[in-house]
Amino acid sequence: MVSLGLEGKVVLVTGGNRGIGAAIVSKLLELGAKVAYTYRSAPAPDSSALGIQADVTDPVAMEKMAAQVEAELGPVYGVVANAGINRDNFYPKLTTDDWDAVIDTNLKGINNTLKPLIPKMYERKEGAVVCISSISGDRGNIGQTNYAATKAAAIGFTKALALEAARYGVRANAVAPGFIETDMVKAIPDKVKERIIAEIPARRFGQPEEVAWAVAFLLSPTASSYITGEVLRVNGAHHT
Ligand code: NDP
Repeated sequence: MVSLGLEGKVVLVTGGNRGIGAAIVSKLLELGAKVAYTYRSAPAPDSSALGIQADVTDPVAMEKMAAQVEAELGPVYGVVANAGINRDNFYPKLTTDDWDAVIDTNLKGINNTLKPLIPKMYERKEGAVVCISSISGDRGNIGQTNYAATKAAAIGFTKALALEAARYGVRANAVAPGFIETDMVKAIPDKVKERIIAEIPARRFGQPEEVAWAVAFLLSPTASSYITGEVLRVNGAHHT
């Protein structure tokens, strides 16, 4: 039987209690990985993965969380930096608080997640990182100057990390989802949703599981072993 080679591998997913993160956690469990996930508010109901409450904006909490994952599950092979928020507004109306909250979560959160783990991955000469970017970081989006800046930064970070990590046998890739049906997209007014769907050649929003498959592929030590520094778009041809 063909496998993605993730059986028994320890993978950490930030923001794994709901939305895209929860779908990634489920997919990795199905593929035999040992999965830990973080959440800020409440754990996922009925998940057999290790759930740890840790805010990605808090470097000390994230360091403690990483130590707990390694103590309970073993050395971390894969990290999915998924936790993210949006605080949308036209730029003139965007407050400094909206700017800071999105930068702190989406960009500093990636650093806080990876900082305690990357040195160990380099030492073990094995590992895979997937950062969740967005179509917004790829082509911009009205009302999302703050969000788009962080999602473009996630791509720059991933590419730079891939260059330095390759010699240590560690890969880094990004996934850039289009509009995916989660709480983040459910919050968009119906009229705007209709307009967006009309722009998408696939004529529908994506499902969280469709992003999860892309992440699983990029984590796979067999299926994507020579792929690093890439951005995989999952967007129904919304932006190519
Ligand atoms: P949701 O709003 O459904 O879920 C967001 C997740 O991030 C939750 O698990 C949430 O935890 C977690 N989170 C937010 N802030 C923090 C924090 N400070 N510390 C820890 N966890 C936090 O979002 P999606 O599932 O839609 O999005 C997941 C990722 O995919 C994000 O990075 C998003 O930007 C990106 N994305 C989403 C798209 C979409 O269309 N949905 C499109 C492109 C990219 P809690 O529930 O505890 O708050």
